[in-house]
Amino acid sequence: MKIPFVDLAAQYRSIRPQIQTAVNGVLDRCDFILGEDVAAFEKEFAKWAGAPNAVSCANGTDALVLALRACNIGPGDEVITTPYTWISTVLAITLVGAKPVFADINAANYNLDPDLIVKKITRRTKAILPVHLYGQSAAMDVIGDIAKKHKLLVIEDAAQSHGSYWRGLRVGQTGAVTCYSFYPGKNIGAYGDAGCITTPDAQIARRVKMLRNMGQEIKHKHELIGTNSRLDTIQAAILRVKLKHLEDWTEARRKAATRYHRILEDLNVVLPKEADGSRHVYHVYAVQVPRRDAVLKKLTAAGVMAQVHYPVPVHLQPCYKNLGYKKGSFPITERTCSRILSLPMFPEITEAQQAFVAESLKQALKK
Ligand SMILES: *Cc1c(COP(=O)(O)O)cnc(C)c1O
Repeated sequence: MKIPFVDLAAQYRSIRPQIQTAVNGVLDRCDFILGEDVAAFEKEFAKWAGAPNAVSCANGTDALVLALRACNIGPGDEVITTPYTWISTVLAITLVGAKPVFADINAANYNLDPDLIVKKITRRTKAILPVHLYGQSAAMDVIGDIAKKHKLLVIEDAAQSHGSYWRGLRVGQTGAVTCYSFYPGKNIGAYGDAGCITTPDAQIARRVKMLRNMGQEIKHKHELIGTNSRLDTIQAAILRVKLKHLEDWTEARRKAATRYHRILEDLNVVLPKEADGSRHVYHVYAVQVPRRDAVLKKLTAAGVMAQVHYPVPVHLQPCYKNLGYKKGSFPITERTCSRILSLPMFPEITEAQQAFVAESLKQALKK
């Protein structure tokens, strides 16, 4: 048996006629740039997210850059974030000219530890940028309180956490801006690159909308130094179809996670934990295992396409040497990077596939 890490083809088969109708609609109208599906998707996504405004853009990395720019964060400013994330979070901070300042994670949920954030606040700190990693929201109640007390903005990286909750507080309800990615493998994925922000602030929404389209609101009147980061109409049409299925897919992921919890319980692995009153949306089902690299090799040989998110933390990436961090700077992050392993997880995964993953993992853990 071969178990893929994600199975985009299985999902496509389940919605093929709807997707083809949606794409054909765009082809018939030829409204490829900022066409009618773009505005319609933004409206539907805002409603789904419980946010007053949603503005789409070309990808999740751009969503972060546009969010930071719309909040006037730039040279001289510091942004506190996690070193345990996909690199885009930190690239965005650097790309706007600000300085990323890292705080270590909480070992229980792999997200920023609020107690460690406070120690990193200086007079230059402008914002906190929590990442809701793997599908689990960061502790947004506490992070929101810290931000309020120190008059900092919160910008949420929700690229992996569409529809997750922390103690009843939905992702996107705390931040001045919340950034989403619709990369194909994300919980809702386009058939190419795509991204979006949501915000309660109409002025921020307006600025992102201008920035993504050459800094203009009125054609040929360029008020801001913008860029080209528009969402393709074809991708918007695809995302409109997929948004209708997102809740079902999320529930299917959660059901698959519950099954994994049950069948992996007796193995020598650390399972993901869902905090009380919270909703983990399992973008990634990550476990910790001893001798991770050897286990991964054995799984691959058995046909189980596991992955590692992430083998090297951002503070130890060569491009961030200049920030001056060393091995040992963030012990919890570094230890996690050496032990973490992402098992196949997608809404369509079957019981038989999961049983095969569990059995293969059991064999791989034997010395
Ligand atoms: C995927 C991802 C991004 C970037 O999204 P792209 O659409 O690939 O640019 C940003 N942050 C996190 C945590 C991600 O997982």
